[in-house]
Amino acid sequence: MFETLRQSLKTGVVTTSYPTTPAEVSSRARGRPEIDWEQWKDARPAAAVCPTGAIEFVDEPTGRTVSRNVTLDLGKCIFCGLCADVDPAIRMTNVCELAACLRDELRHTAQYRLNDDGTHHRLLEAPGKPETLETVGRQLRASIQSVLGRSLHIRQVDAGSCNGCEMEIHGLNSPVYDIERFGIHFVVSPRHADMLLVTGPVTRNMELALRKTHDATPEPRLVVAVGACGCSGGIFGRNYATCGGVDSVIPVDVYIPGCPPNPHALLHGILLAIGRLPPNAPRRNDSDAQRIKHALA
Ligand code: SF4
Repeated sequence: MFETLRQSLKTGVVTTSYPTTPAEVSSRARGRPEIDWEQWKDARPAAAVCPTGAIEFVDEPTGRTVSRNVTLDLGKCIFCGLCADVDPAIRMTNVCELAACLRDELRHTAQYRLNDDGTHHRLLEAPGKPETLETVGRQLRASIQSVLGRSLHIRQVDAGSCNGCEMEIHGLNSPVYDIERFGIHFVVSPRHADMLLVTGPVTRNMELALRKTHDATPEPRLVVAVGACGCSGGIFGRNYATCGGVDSVIPVDVYIPGCPPNPHALLHGILLAIGRLPPNAPRRNDSDAQRIKHALA
């Protein structure tokens, strides 16, 4: 026992202080693909190799020219990097703080005017975040926080996942992430839960069980869809065996993209859902100047 104590003291504190400081994510971790929308010459090669249809485009005539609406859907993206392999305008990042309160916030759409050969002539409209969506998200967070206060009980529901997301969820209870420091606990019964953390593309066999679990969770309840499968059905989509994303079965409050999302991304999404992220919390993709500004604030 003394040896264990000695080792613990020697190791010291390993728990991250996120969200007060930015979490350290390995530079080799796979996060969202980043597109240089200005320099993007052609969406077709990336769309052709994308296995989940996360990059989609629609061409439509506008007057005497043709324009193209290209959408990058982070709710479908599994961060495989195939698009970056075929297109120099796309690069993979390790940015994983991607959770959103509305599904549409994960869809980034740009519009291009096209050349005759189908390549992009110029960018007409870059993706933007509609203000109305942000407003809805803020209102949702405010109402949730006023009801739940500062403690939360989570029931995790595996609705048909490959267990990749579960492995990452286990990481939340590790000494590094230590989710209990926020007063957040995992419980075994939905009747004791405030939040359902749902993984998987919702198999047909789990559809009824998920509905019943949702009904058994007392109001006010939060539902968080985890991973590309939970957000959109992921690589499985909707077929004879799966229903698609969690929101095709029960209402979802927050979406956490990734395949699987790492514990840091999960923590970000859960804290976003309960309004525990400080509005000026530093994020990993902040510039150094922004981080200093946050530290001085
Ligand atoms: S990283 Fe993979 S899933 Fe995501 S957009 Fe690129 S090709 Fe599609």
